[in-house]
Amino acid sequence: MAPLHTETVDELKRRVEGRVVLPGDQNYDEVRKIWNAMISRRPAVIVQCTRADDVPHAIDWARQTGLEISVRGAGHNIAGNAVCEGGVMIDLSTMTNVRVDAAKRRAYVEPGATLAHFDEAVQSHGLATPVGINSTTGISGLTLGGGFGWLTRKYGMTIDNLVSAELITANGKKILASENENTDLFWAIRGGGGNFGVVTQFEFTLHPVGPQVLTGLIVFPLDQAKRVLRQYRDFVESAPEELSVWVVLRRAPPLPFLPKDVHGKEVVVLAVFYGGDIGEGEKLIAPLRRFGKAHGEHIGVQPYVQWQKAFDPLLTPGARNYWKSHNFKELRDEALDAMIAFAKKIPSPQCEIFIGHIGGAANRVPVDAMAYGHRDARFVMNVHGRWNDAADDATCMAWARAFFDATAPHASAGAYVNFMTEDESHRVVNAYGANYARLARIKREYDPENVFHLNQNIKP
Ligand SMILES: Cc1cc2nc3c(=O)[nH]c(=O)nc-3n(C[C@H](O)[C@H](O)[C@H](O)COP(=O)(O)OP(=O)(O)OC[C@H]3O[C@@H](n4cnc5c(N)ncnc54)[C@H](O)[C@@H]3O)c2cc1C
Repeated sequence: MAPLHTETVDELKRRVEGRVVLPGDQNYDEVRKIWNAMISRRPAVIVQCTRADDVPHAIDWARQTGLEISVRGAGHNIAGNAVCEGGVMIDLSTMTNVRVDAAKRRAYVEPGATLAHFDEAVQSHGLATPVGINSTTGISGLTLGGGFGWLTRKYGMTIDNLVSAELITANGKKILASENENTDLFWAIRGGGGNFGVVTQFEFTLHPVGPQVLTGLIVFPLDQAKRVLRQYRDFVESAPEELSVWVVLRRAPPLPFLPKDVHGKEVVVLAVFYGGDIGEGEKLIAPLRRFGKAHGEHIGVQPYVQWQKAFDPLLTPGARNYWKSHNFKELRDEALDAMIAFAKKIPSPQCEIFIGHIGGAANRVPVDAMAYGHRDARFVMNVHGRWNDAADDATCMAWARAFFDATAPHASAGAYVNFMTEDESHRVVNAYGANYARLARIKREYDPENVFHLNQNIKP
């Protein structure tokens, strides 16, 4: 990395209100760190923005200096594009304010907010919108790629609830994108990732949710998985949209409601969320218990914000992570059998296969309504390769890849960009399918020089 002239850096420091962090500064290593420990890059400069107006200065300075730009929301993305090697990282992670207008059912969200910031602010008014299932995930990356979670079947993807976004484009202009203004851009950012500019504020529509919801886990032994998964598939066919049941195959963590001798054994877990009337929900979920003879269950009424954090202890930052993902219109026997076969040879205690149950409202939006086009996806399967020791990289990655290949013939076309790893850029065109050509045209209009290329890149 060639050293930067002091005067050049001083000029940047004068222009931004936020901190400029350089290699050698006391907390440089802390600030450049992201969720996935497999990614360790050293930006030449980190601009920790504290206000939207810092962003155009950071972009302009980076372009004048000839340095690459990466953009960090909460730094959760598996591919690690939030951090660059030798360039300028525009770090938005300290801009976490969420303003709620409860009367209008709207939230105005700064780009560094995590799901925890968002959910806490909106739930203090008994409101929510669909976001992901791990509270340390960033709103920014999640929204720009699509976003789904427990509320998706009822209220759609996160992007289906985006009302407007304020962006700074590659030439430093601040613009608003919505259904009424810069409509092409609004179409593109709903799924097209960080390709078109730096979002400095998101506006979402909100819905009454909870605050108490019926949620929890039922844990079966893996040797019952064949019948559990087949019954699961039939059950969710007629489930109401308030109910989402996700599946996880992994080794049992030391959960207090499981007998000690089950800890570390392969299990199949049903993760249940019901957002409607509690009594009705109790009746609806009763059949799940009869899918097999469970090791144990922990189902009850709890605040929505607490459930949103339920998986956080299994998804802490600092581990090595390698993911592979497919969308499914249906869960064929062959796909379920492959899941069971690969769950039997899980290579580390933290690796898991999960099936996110979506569909419902997310399937009622036309494919070309916005950049994200997987409106036929009813399930999103993700294989979380996750481990601590670099010596296990090859084994764990080989397992994830082999599982991905084994289930590929049963998956639908396309991919969810938010689950794609660094080495999957060849999947980008396929990920957008018929919407790619329009995305490339909009990219040419807003970022012809591909200033924002550290992402799942759409070529101008
Ligand atoms: C443990 C875990 C659980 C997850 N669960 C879910 C889930 O339930 N549902 C779901 O849909 N997804 C889920 N995801 C995927 C998640 O949506 C993506 O990782 C998302 O990119 C994270 O957003 P971030 O802001 O934290 O990411 P970052 O790493 O900060 O950013 C990702 C990319 O987005 C772009 N970007 C970020 N902020 C901006 C901005 N303000 N303006 C322009 N571009 C920007 C940049 O290109 C950046 O490289 C999960 C991820 C993890 C690691």
